[in-house]
Amino acid sequence: MGCNCGQSKKSQGNIVITDEATRMMICKKCPEVNKLSVIGHVCGKLAQPTKDTCGCILKLKTKLKNQRCPQGKWWYKMQIVTKQIGKNEYICYLRDDRGMNLKAEIGKTVTEATQKLIDKITYGLYAPMNVKITS
Ligand code: SF4
Repeated sequence: MGCNCGQSKKSQGNIVITDEATRMMICKKCPEVNKLSVIGHVCGKLAQPTKDTCGCILKLKTKLKNQRCPQGKWWYKMQIVTKQIGKNEYICYLRDDRGMNLKAEIGKTVTEATQKLIDKITYGLYAPMNVKITS
């Protein structure tokens, strides 16, 4: 199909989105997307990659974990922001580079709220940070 996804220099966030539904949601809002009657959404023109589009069928591409958006839109640059919201109550947000809060956790201290959030976002990859891994 001549896909150029691996050549993207823009894929430089710190977390890659691998969830199919989230990828498709981003693609549907992208100005490059085209909807064809039989195969559904396509990135640019089918099988005609350019420097900004890959020409892929997005129903398939979004399922493949190692695929990337040629414009780097499937990456997030994240920051963790913590605020006090009450006496002995803190909230910790995972915020993307567009200022959107993606997840939040509440704790009795800054440390507890932060730890809960980090556990939540890393659990799928490794294990909770408060679990000691012994060999
Ligand atoms: S893969 Fe990237 S460039 Fe292509 S439609 Fe999706 S968000 Fe847009």
